[in-house]
This record gives sequence, structure tokens and C-alpha cells, in this order.
Amino acid sequence: MTENTPKTYREAVQRGCEALQEAGVPEAFLQAQQLLWYVCGMTPADWLMRREDSIPAGEWEAFSAVIEKRVTRIPLQYLTGEQEFMGLPFRVSPAVLIPRQDTEHLVEEALACCEGKRVLDMCTGSGCIAISIAKLGKPASVTGADISPEALAVAKDNAKRLEAEVIWVQSDMFAGIAGEYDVIVSNPPYIPPEQIAGLEPEVKDYEPRIALYGGEDGLEYYRVLVTESAKRLRPAGNGEKGGILMVEIGYDQGVSVPALFREAGFADVRVKKDSAGLDRVVVGHL
Ligand code: GLN
Repeated sequence: MTENTPKTYREAVQRGCEALQEAGVPEAFLQAQQLLWYVCGMTPADWLMRREDSIPAGEWEAFSAVIEKRVTRIPLQYLTGEQEFMGLPFRVSPAVLIPRQDTEHLVEEALACCEGKRVLDMCTGSGCIAISIAKLGKPASVTGADISPEALAVAKDNAKRLEAEVIWVQSDMFAGIAGEYDVIVSNPPYIPPEQIAGLEPEVKDYEPRIALYGGEDGLEYYRVLVTESAKRLRPAGNGEKGGILMVEIGYDQGVSVPALFREAGFADVRVKKDSAGLDRVVVGHL
């Protein structure tokens, strides 16, 4: 793509778009445009004013290099290092799952019940859930746990940049977690093996396998979550309901996961749908 330097920023985006289209990248134009803005430090307003300006050779080279990476299906967010979630800018690296809009449903559900509560986010990854709750809610405390030290480093960096107060714990599920919580929230790995091959190349080839794969039937982490949370959430008593567990689920887990909740002793178990009408969040209390 580096031969025949295009004259303007607009032409550069056009060329980038063609390269991405050829590689089968969805939303090729928007992606090329976003990568150009990233490389050239442009805002959408700059783009409107300057798109017919000539592009300096150095910027074209840098843009071409990043387009060539995107052609190999490296996710856009790993190239720009950023993904917005709950209106907050999160830093991401290949050590963490890229925050998904679907997961905002889980955060909304947590925000509705976290005031004054001790919240634990299990499998925190980039920290997007824990940090959003700490920033946008009024919890008594938020703890974020993950098995991966590399992921926790990303989460800590996000908390620092976003000035969120979160206690970070490196832990294989609940092994390193002490104390009682009022709300446990988690978006654990939940993809079963037979669905991995069908994922987009961006996901299956570049996002951390450890953040995706949910064991033989996709339910491995939910089993641990329900049994351990039943022991660690505040029990019901004195006419008060006990602590709340809420998890994100895959579109086809809207029956299996609520069943696990009930078996572990959770009550009023309900499933919330996402904006596409698919089962997405399961909530229950002790
Ligand atoms: N909790 C993180 C997120 O929602 C990571 C989830 C995961 O790695 N499975 O993005």
C-alpha cells in the first residue's frame, strides 16, 4: 500500500478502506477512518476541516503500517490501545478481553443495587466493570480480581488514569479472596469449545483464550461462581434478603445458568435480555 502516496487524507482513508475490504474486515471505511484519526491525532472536527489537505509522507507511512496490521485481523482496539465502555475511555492490550457493549447491561444492573455495598468483580480483565461501578455508582468498596497478573496491570493502569478507587487482587477465582461481599458481579469466560472455531478471527486469533474459553461445556466458571458466591455473599437474615450475584452469559445459556443459580440456593433468579433481545445477564440473591 506504500507505493503511490495518496494526495489527501480523504484519499488515504479510501486506500485504507480498500485494503481492509479486500481482507474481509467489516465496516472497512469507518475502521480506516478511525485508524487515520488515531495515527494523525485527528478529532472528528479536524477530519471535517482537513480531509482535503495533503497528507505528509510520514503520516501516510504510519497509517499504511497500521492498516497492514489490521489486514491480519488484529482488533482495531489493540492497535489504538483504547475502547470506550460506559462512556469511559479504557486502555486495552492483548492481555485483556476488549470490553463489549453487551457488558454494559451487567454494569447497569450492578449500578442499580450497589449503593453503600461491598462489591466484588470476579474475572475483572481490563477492570472495565469494577472501574465503571466505582466511578458511576456509590458503592462502599469495589474489589477486582483476576488470575492474570498482566490483566491486573492493565486494570490498575485504567483505575489510575480514570481516578477510580478499586482494590485489586490477583487470584485464581476465589482462592485469594477473603471476607464478605454484598454484590458479586462477573463476566467470566463462557464460550464452549465447539463455538470457538466460529468466532471472528479478531476474537479467536487475538483475544486471550483464557478470557474466552469456558471449559468443556462453557459453564465451568459459573459452577465455581455460584457455589463460592453462596458462601461469600452476605446471607439473608432478620427479614432482609441476602447478597446478590449477577453474571453475564452467552445467548444460549439463559436456561443452564439460572438452573445453576437455583441449585446453589439463589432466589428470585431472573434473566435480562440485551438490546438485541438475547439473554445476557442472570441475577439472583441469597
Ligand atoms: N470482566 C472483563 C470484561 O467484561 C473480562 C471478561 C473476561 O475476560 N471474560 O471485559
